[in-house]
Amino acid sequence: MSLLDHLSAKLNAISAQSLTRSLRRADSGTAPRQTINGRELLMFCSNDYLGLAAEPAIAEALADGARRWGGGSGASPLVSGHSAAHEAVADTLARWYAPHIPQARAIGFCTGYMANLAVVTALGDEHTEIFSEQLNHASLIDAARLAKAKVTRFPHADLAALRATLTASTAKVRLIVTDAVFSMDGDLAPLPGLLALAEEFDAWLIVDDAHGFGVLGENGRGSLEHFDLRSERLILVGTLGKAAGLAGAFVAAHATIVDYLLQAARNFIFSTASPPAIEHALLTSFALIEGPLGAARRAHLVALQARLRDGLLALIDRHPRLGWSLTDATTPIQPLVVGGNAEVMALAATLESAGLRVPGIRPPTVADGTARLRITLCATHAVADVDALLAALGRAAAAQEQAA
Ligand SMILES: *Cc1c(COP(=O)(O)O)cnc(C)c1O
Repeated sequence: MSLLDHLSAKLNAISAQSLTRSLRRADSGTAPRQTINGRELLMFCSNDYLGLAAEPAIAEALADGARRWGGGSGASPLVSGHSAAHEAVADTLARWYAPHIPQARAIGFCTGYMANLAVVTALGDEHTEIFSEQLNHASLIDAARLAKAKVTRFPHADLAALRATLTASTAKVRLIVTDAVFSMDGDLAPLPGLLALAEEFDAWLIVDDAHGFGVLGENGRGSLEHFDLRSERLILVGTLGKAAGLAGAFVAAHATIVDYLLQAARNFIFSTASPPAIEHALLTSFALIEGPLGAARRAHLVALQARLRDGLLALIDRHPRLGWSLTDATTPIQPLVVGGNAEVMALAATLESAGLRVPGIRPPTVADGTARLRITLCATHAVADVDALLAALGRAAAAQEQAA
């Protein structure tokens, strides 16, 4: 069989399960109202939770950074790509996490995927056992596969099961690895309980805060601030392409861990540093996140979340036969679990024809039979936008119930 025949057969199998993915073309920047394939839609799918990607001060800072630093960094960080702007970003993050991680230092990466690969593969050597939460992001799963460590999975948010596997472990080093906010469910990991187990079993806790950074905590510092955690066992991964509105990622951890990543993380050593203009603009993003604008936007987000959740619960009550449900989400990620792959895609298409874009999420991203609309809110949504989504979902539910 030729490669092309082989791939065509696989593509047909994907299509037969209603699992084909396709690109849409954005003709304007990310915002609650965005032009997609030439048509303006009300969007509920961006991870730009604070609306900073569209903030004029960020665009100004990027332009200013480009005038000062030009385009790319030209080399990997250890060669010549590490600029004063990169250093200022790392210093700011080290200061932010000092209250949570004694002797904190930070190190930057181009993406969160890269940061997760770096920290898990560098720390997960042959002497190590990785305890990986069942619903971890794909980048953490790939990182654990790539690491030399033994990998043991534990069920979602199940501290008792984790305790049992930690008790049975004979590894020299133990790494517990978890998302802080689960990206397809919107619920929080039980971080205080996980950290208590780490302390008890001499383990380390890697926290992927991709969806908490900027959003959670009084100053937007994420899940460590939200739960008021403090321990040298905390290893934080944050991404800067979501609530921070730009691009990039970082690891904040005890200075010795960060020193070691600098020596051993292959995708830090062998990859070109991010453009310094982005780092320059990140300093503006951090100032906005910790300032009054960030605080006001976080408060608005919480109000939007409550309104959406109340509305969705009422909708589910009105249409029990559809079998829709919510997760335990307490964040701007508020999924509506519909069930079947074809059903969720039909619902997403109905919403899209009404001018709303809410992505349908199917297996393998989520478990079989739990396909869902992944509704995400941004602080730049108006209350009326949430009401428009609830009204459109109400019409779709009524139509679907009648058809059944
Ligand atoms: C988005 C995401 C990442 C990857 O971050 P990028 O900067 O987009 O590569 C990692 N972990 C989680 C939980 C994410 O949601």
